[in-house]
Amino acid sequence: MISEEGHGEDKRRKEKEEEEEFEAMRRRLVNNLGTYLLLDEKVREAMLRVPRHKFVPEYEKKAAYIDRPLDIGHGQTISAPHMVAIMCELLELSEGHKVLEIGAGSGYNAAVMGELVGKKGHVYTVERIEALANFARDNLRKTEYKNVTVLLEDGSMGYSYFAPYDRITVTCAAPYIPEPLLEQLKRGGIMVIPIGSDCYSQELYKIKKDSKGNIHKKRKGGVSFVPLIGKHGFRKSLEC
Ligand code: SAM
Repeated sequence: MISEEGHGEDKRRKEKEEEEEFEAMRRRLVNNLGTYLLLDEKVREAMLRVPRHKFVPEYEKKAAYIDRPLDIGHGQTISAPHMVAIMCELLELSEGHKVLEIGAGSGYNAAVMGELVGKKGHVYTVERIEALANFARDNLRKTEYKNVTVLLEDGSMGYSYFAPYDRITVTCAAPYIPEPLLEQLKRGGIMVIPIGSDCYSQELYKIKKDSKGNIHKKRKGGVSFVPLIGKHGFRKSLEC
């Protein structure tokens, strides 16, 4: 007969084995990304540290280290790892940066950015769907990201209370660059945002605000994001 203590040990051993498997899958995924993206070393290390399987619902856990978006409920997705890597690289994140993210979703991208800005930096991530804001908060608490704060608001308005931001990233597609986001970006700051009204394809932009406050935009290729819904976004979900 196996004692209760024996059962407990068995469970811990299985959990440890499962965690090791996830870690090996994560290493393979990130190494693979490095074969077709010019993966910055700091972004690479950050992605190696964040356990993506702890930011997806139980039914998607096994797919957590496949390079594709996954369902997180409420018609929303966690972005594909290559997209997280590309956006983090474009943002040129450094230790100490104050970052605003629009579209917390699962909290995964915020955690990767939390790794990149370190303890002296902070990531504010805004979500409009309450259940997802709670999901992200829960995931970030369990994985112990203390430098990330989830806010339940319409992110198309930005979040003026903590402005200005060194970096702003929008992980949903906007019809145009929301004016409040431009205002809340620091001089010398960078914003990355997908723009477009098509359901399946938009254009990723890297926006720089120079020391005089002038705005410079560069196209960075085609992407596919769920819509930004709000005062400075779409009025409702796009009909695809
Ligand atoms: N960054 C997320 C992650 O790491 O899981 C993925 C974001 S998902 C592709 C886009 C998110 O943007 C959805 O959770 C959606 O609810 C949110 N969203 C859409 N419009 C928004 C708005 N006005 N304010 C805040 N969040 C918004």
